[in-house]
Amino acid sequence: MLRIYDTAARSVRDFEPRTAGKVSMYVCGVTPYDAPHLGHGRTAVTFDVIRRYLAWRGYEVEFVTNVTDIEDKIIARASEQGITEPELAAKFEKMYFDQLDRLGVQPPDHLPRATEFIAQIHALIAELIAMGRAYAIEGSGAYFKVDSLGTYGKLSHRTLEQLLESAGARVDVDEDKRSPVDFALWKAAKPGEPAWESPWGAGRPGWHIECSAMALEILGEDFDLHGGGSDLVFPHHENEIAQAEGAGHPFARYWMHGGMVMVGKEKMGKSLGNMLSLSDAIDVHGPRSFRWLVAQHHYRNQLEINDEALTAARATIEGYDALARRLRAAGAPMVAVGDTSAFADVMDNDFDTPNGVAVIAGWRRDANTALDAGNLDDAAKSFALVVDAMGALGIVLDDGSSTGEDASAIDVLVQQRTDARANRDFAEADRVRDELTVLGVVLEDTPTGTIWHRL
Ligand SMILES: [Zn+2]
Repeated sequence: MLRIYDTAARSVRDFEPRTAGKVSMYVCGVTPYDAPHLGHGRTAVTFDVIRRYLAWRGYEVEFVTNVTDIEDKIIARASEQGITEPELAAKFEKMYFDQLDRLGVQPPDHLPRATEFIAQIHALIAELIAMGRAYAIEGSGAYFKVDSLGTYGKLSHRTLEQLLESAGARVDVDEDKRSPVDFALWKAAKPGEPAWESPWGAGRPGWHIECSAMALEILGEDFDLHGGGSDLVFPHHENEIAQAEGAGHPFARYWMHGGMVMVGKEKMGKSLGNMLSLSDAIDVHGPRSFRWLVAQHHYRNQLEINDEALTAARATIEGYDALARRLRAAGAPMVAVGDTSAFADVMDNDFDTPNGVAVIAGWRRDANTALDAGNLDDAAKSFALVVDAMGALGIVLDDGSSTGEDASAIDVLVQQRTDARANRDFAEADRVRDELTVLGVVLEDTPTGTIWHRL
């Protein structure tokens, strides 16, 4: 039985989907106003692994992530750069998904953008106003009336009294709301700002309303999983629940939150000046190292990402690649995948990837031991388990057989060197090796033959 830690329940619960065999999943996406950082990469890989594992386990998964393509930061940055808001958002949305693609993050089934859901957002705000849970203020916009919903605070486990106490100092000066804890559903446009017509004046959606409107429109009421980084629990996800349930629409059944990324012991954030670029990390260490490092840590824990950790992850992945190449060089047979229940058992416990990784490491040891003993069949059986479970983590091993279009040319050179050595023509063997080095190919002579991989 799959069990998931639910932030709202503050405990691990048995997973009972809305529809047997299917999982509907919404993960808050990006506000594209800057280059993606390490935290974006971790969150995307975390929920990609969860999605892949659910599919691996036989569920049919429908995955939605959104793009907040209109927001205060986008307006400010577009003005700084002298381009329009849609141009800025499109530029950084592309940059974000380009990096996710490099990381092997599967594209979402649905990618709603806020500006494409204005009609649904209007409809939800109108429902809330009709039910007395929201109000409009002429020239200012529309606000959610927090004290109208007795369950407000149930996700972040805060009471209205606590919120009132801490909110006093946080009211934006340009907001004209009745209570400091109320939040904007619709924001009136200032002169020159992008604006959509609405019954509450020309303006744009508040930050939170789009996710409620999109999730309900695309996945329907009572959908299964809602995810995001732990920094979104309050206020964003608390407000998403209020907007949906306040209008009488049952919302997510389970709330999942991924831990933050630490860089040099501090939580990542723009103000700390440690916003490391995701593309730099992938350029230097490769996408699989990043995925492996993420999988080595439980998704709910904080994760420190640095060169040392990524270098170590890379060495581990290269060890798996070496096993794959050894088996290929030895001519190991292809075998069907055997019993993966050891992996499923730990992963079923709230996606416990650190223990999943440990199970895979055990299978890798078994494969190497069998290979050392010359037992190709057993090695192939253990390796099939490794490959299958790695697939659930989104990691493909490199056995040297399909690493680029010139792979067959490299195979020919490796064979030339092997022939030269067999003929004791060591000068020729060294010459071919140098040629391969220039191509970025590393050779490894093993008892079962020469194998190669790219640097
Ligand atoms: Zn959201």
